[in-house]
Amino acid sequence: MHNKPLDPKVHFIVGILISAFSAYTLLFTEVPNKSVMQLFLYIGLGFIALAFLKKGIRYIREGGLKKDERELAAKISGVPQAAKEEEYQDQLKRQAQLQERNRPSIVACQLCGTRNYSTSNYCHMCGYKLR
Ligand SMILES: [Zn+2]
Repeated sequence: MHNKPLDPKVHFIVGILISAFSAYTLLFTEVPNKSVMQLFLYIGLGFIALAFLKKGIRYIREGGLKKDERELAAKISGVPQAAKEEEYQDQLKRQAQLQERNRPSIVACQLCGTRNYSTSNYCHMCGYKLR
């Protein structure tokens, strides 16, 4: 199957083709089964709606701006992108340090040697008192 999601443009074009074809058939030709053509028309309109929906979701996900537009906005506001990147890396480092500090250390059970968190009172394997 496709790994890459379909371009909304494809949905839009397919929708236009299907709805235009079915609309034409409904209006200008005598078809014995009109409900089928109506169904096609709705499918076509659905595709067009889907295209707009996808475009909208993509727009929201990208924060309303394309990457080069974001860089341009950063340039205009006087904050260089590199400084922001550095700040972000600093934040990541601080977070990692905090996590390291909060992580419980490991103690081995004196009876069976199983590794337990130092916050435990008893070994989780044999139940031997750890402290
Ligand atoms: Zn044990």
